[in-house]
Amino acid sequence: MSFEKLGLSDKILEAITKKGYTSPSPIQEKAIPKILERKDVLASAQTGTGKTAGFTLPLLQILNQGQQLRNRPVRALILTPTRELAAQVYENVREYSTYTDLRSTVIFGGVNAGPQIKTLNRGVDVLVATPGRLLDLHNQKVFSLDKVEIMVLDEADRMLDMGFSRDIKKIINLLPERRQNLLFSATFSKEIKKLASAMLHNPVLVEA
Ligand code: AMP
Repeated sequence: MSFEKLGLSDKILEAITKKGYTSPSPIQEKAIPKILERKDVLASAQTGTGKTAGFTLPLLQILNQGQQLRNRPVRALILTPTRELAAQVYENVREYSTYTDLRSTVIFGGVNAGPQIKTLNRGVDVLVATPGRLLDLHNQKVFSLDKVEIMVLDEADRMLDMGFSRDIKKIINLLPERRQNLLFSATFSKEIKKLASAMLHNPVLVEA
């Protein structure tokens, strides 16, 4: 199987080639075509399976092929449980979007919000965030979430373990009703299934 066959565009394929990937991992092979079809996806995937590229590559392609909106509101939101994971996911987003016109940034707690606010004020298409800092800066009206087209919950099980359930619900309530949802989790407890059924519409199930 090749990345070309998954329906990825030249701009995205160029970034993949630069990274040196020669073929998609199983989770990428299954998830990428479904995400490009604009389906909601519920994915069971551990770290190390290539899950980050599995949601980032199609997400960037969808945004890059879509309409650029005035003032660059956030069009894709990726939530992660920790700042380390947020930074790592953002690094992927940055690399894979090299040949597109998309802008992205990352926000997390424990550091001065000043530089984060400055970047957000310039407008970003893709926002990678931890829940607390996201809600904090949203309350300060630094950015709006009412143009979000794609929402990703990465490592959803860890988010619930860390007590982010209420924050996640608050964030979902800030998003437009019509959007694409992607939920990645290593395990599937009753709580995750509940969250998935509240957040996803007719999801396609994919496993690494
Ligand atoms: P992740 O599971 O997203 O944390 O990715 C694990 C590692 O696999 C990262 O270092 C990626 O850069 C790498 N990776 C992701 N997709 C591929 C691929 N198709 N071929 C080779 N390496 C990959």
